[in-house]
Amino acid sequence: MIRAILSRSASAGVVHLRDVLLLVGVMGSLMTVPAPGLSQTERYDRLREEMVRRWIEGQGVRDPATLLAMRTVPRHEFVLPEYLRRAYGDHALPITHGQTISQPYIVAYMTEMLRPEPEMKVLEVGTGSGYQAAVLAETGAEVFTIELVGGLAVSARERLDRLGYGAIESRHADGFFGWEEEAPFDAIIVTAAAGYIPPPLIEQLRPGGRMMIPVGSIYGIQNLILVEKSADGEIRTEALLPVRFVPLLRDIR
Ligand code: SAH
Repeated sequence: MIRAILSRSASAGVVHLRDVLLLVGVMGSLMTVPAPGLSQTERYDRLREEMVRRWIEGQGVRDPATLLAMRTVPRHEFVLPEYLRRAYGDHALPITHGQTISQPYIVAYMTEMLRPEPEMKVLEVGTGSGYQAAVLAETGAEVFTIELVGGLAVSARERLDRLGYGAIESRHADGFFGWEEEAPFDAIIVTAAAGYIPPPLIEQLRPGGRMMIPVGSIYGIQNLILVEKSADGEIRTEALLPVRFVPLLRDIR
């Protein structure tokens, strides 16, 4: 059709405005036609692969279990419909209740730093969309996740069940206190920024275990802190990276 319009204009020696408009219209519609032969799922698979190569491997994440998990979890299922087109960019995105789904690189980096191993028992504070919990589950970890906001706890539970992550244990509570009945944990990950490291979480970390937690003020500087508990229970902390997380809220009823 394009050729027909072009040759019509060319043979007449003049370009008719009507033909130009027609051409623009045809080109425009072609550009919005999806790549032929690819299903929606395959298109998301491609975007996810590109995300992992560019933002995850490209920025130095090397742990094979983490990389495989990032390649597997369908991040587009965890974002709001209006952000679907940005699901595989390297940024945090708003979810409901004023919260966010973390940036893919940070999710991968925190996961790698926990040194994931099959059957490892991991506690997450701040379920949010459930994305980080799903990534941890894909590394083979046994995941326990806590969310303070009731609406998010419910929607994440439904989403995780629907996507086949029914084995992840979730609870609606204040994560400041950890999950006493399931302690100790081999690893703990906190995905909201605390003013200080909650003592119950340090308690619930197994000797030899690792915790990743953003610490700092809401409006100022936050640092991603690695907390290591030695075999004899000594605590060592190390600031790894400046970050920006939503605040760890407290249930003060
Ligand atoms: N890990 C999430 C990102 C979460 S954003 C994801 O992958 O999508 C931080 C989350 O922590 C928010 O959902 C917020 O509601 C929750 N949160 C804040 N304070 C909390 C607390 N004291 N206990 C449990 N969850 C908390």
